[in-house]
Amino acid sequence: MSAQIGVTGLAVMGANLARNLARNGYTVALHNRSTEKTDALLADHGDEGDFVRTETLQELVDSLEKPRRVLIMVKAGAPVDSVIDQLTPLLEPGDIVIDGGNSHFEHTRRREAALSQQDLHFVGVGVSGGEEGALLGPSIMPGGSRESYDSVGPMLEKISAKYNGEPCCRWIGTDGAGHFVKMVHNGIEYADMQVIGEAFDLLRSGAGIEPADQAKIFANWNTGTLSSYLIEITAEVLGHTDEKTGKPFVDVVVDAAGQKGTGRWTVVSALELGSPTSGIAESVFARALSSQQDQRLLAQEALPGHEASVELPEDFVEDVRLALYASKLVSYAQGIDMLTAAAAEYGWDLKLDEIASLWRAGCIIRAELLDDIMKAYAGQDRPANLLLAPAFTEAIAGAVPAWRRVVATAVQLGIPVPVFSASLAYYDGLRRERLPAALTQGLRDLFGAHTYNRVDTEGTFHTMWGADRAEVEGVDTH
Ligand code: NDP
Repeated sequence: MSAQIGVTGLAVMGANLARNLARNGYTVALHNRSTEKTDALLADHGDEGDFVRTETLQELVDSLEKPRRVLIMVKAGAPVDSVIDQLTPLLEPGDIVIDGGNSHFEHTRRREAALSQQDLHFVGVGVSGGEEGALLGPSIMPGGSRESYDSVGPMLEKISAKYNGEPCCRWIGTDGAGHFVKMVHNGIEYADMQVIGEAFDLLRSGAGIEPADQAKIFANWNTGTLSSYLIEITAEVLGHTDEKTGKPFVDVVVDAAGQKGTGRWTVVSALELGSPTSGIAESVFARALSSQQDQRLLAQEALPGHEASVELPEDFVEDVRLALYASKLVSYAQGIDMLTAAAAEYGWDLKLDEIASLWRAGCIIRAELLDDIMKAYAGQDRPANLLLAPAFTEAIAGAVPAWRRVVATAVQLGIPVPVFSASLAYYDGLRRERLPAALTQGLRDLFGAHTYNRVDTEGTFHTMWGADRAEVEGVDTH
């Protein structure tokens, strides 16, 4: 029996995607560097569909119908290159190599270029939804040639999550586009989680609301505009009591957040693209600060917090909800801005409405909001910034007074709200008629003759600061 697709790398993600493919009627050839995982999968789930057991990459390749489709699900980084190097000599022109791991998009661009030299297709696929999503239907973001998508797209769409029956899988664009979009998804996920954390901290440390009661608040928020997977599971985690101590679960967990690196990649890439992704960046830095346990311990003793008593705004819980919503909108606006910048930089025709539609189910950032974001970018009249889409302009305008009250209160209380406040600063920076960047330009011209533009005349100018301060035109930009 020829298999329609082969999967190599059968740790949790590969095994669950293989099972998902088999459950959807595809014959799946299985391979892992060591055979234990292959045999464990067959022993535990071999009856879920048609699997072909293989021990070597040659056997895997021989078991596949042509053009061959091989899904690599090994550890991201060097292992992916190692598997590609072993695999490609065994393949024929037209075969398709798919990397479904969390690869950096630049690596995907490099691999795609190398494989296309050998007349092989390389598809870099962003997969979101964790292990459960991989099994039951993830959000899938594939990048590669359109031709290769015609071959693998129907399979990926079939195993993907569905939103009102629509698959959460669409061709994103060439080479690294899929992995880029997945990376931005993860950056937004970081910011989403951080704003939830800031809301929790404000309600606990500011308003004295215990986690169990906050669980009810978050569950209630999940019924409105904030409705999303992350808000839903926040209610679950906050409502959980530690069995051993009887304390709230959140109180027995060490407050140092881990990170695997995709948030950092997002920020590095945003910096390279010149995209002001401040909320996402602050969420990555907040995790980094949380992990500086030694410094934090010393600072707790040494550095003073607030002293004066602070009066909370009248409806603080509702204010926090609105601040959370507005900050979340800003993270999406910044993520989308990054996508727009990347499309121009890398020559991708990214369809923002389609990308938002893929995130509506299956992935970690799935949220009601995404349906509205999709609609905002669906027509010809696309907003220059998400916050300028009429529905969101109205929504954020309604939240601004509460957002300012919350940030001001947090500052007075000494509760760090890096993403609430960075998002508000972005909002204010965006809407401000004049920014102090004019002064920055003046300073740059004085110390480095970097030149400036004038508000009243076309051209590039320099003031002779060290001499008679006459203005000269047409100077080279440094
Ligand atoms: P891991 O990232 O833990 O990788 C383990 C797998 O990689 C094993 O099958 C292992 O084989 C194989 N492997 C490691 N090094 C090599 C090598 N040099 N040559 C061949 N095979 C190698 O597995 P996961 O299932 O957690 O993740 C797979 C990919 O999916 C990663 O890129 C991950 O970032 C991504 N991902 C993971 C998510 C998750 O929730 N876990 C969510 C979304 C994406 P062996 O058994 O022989 O050691």
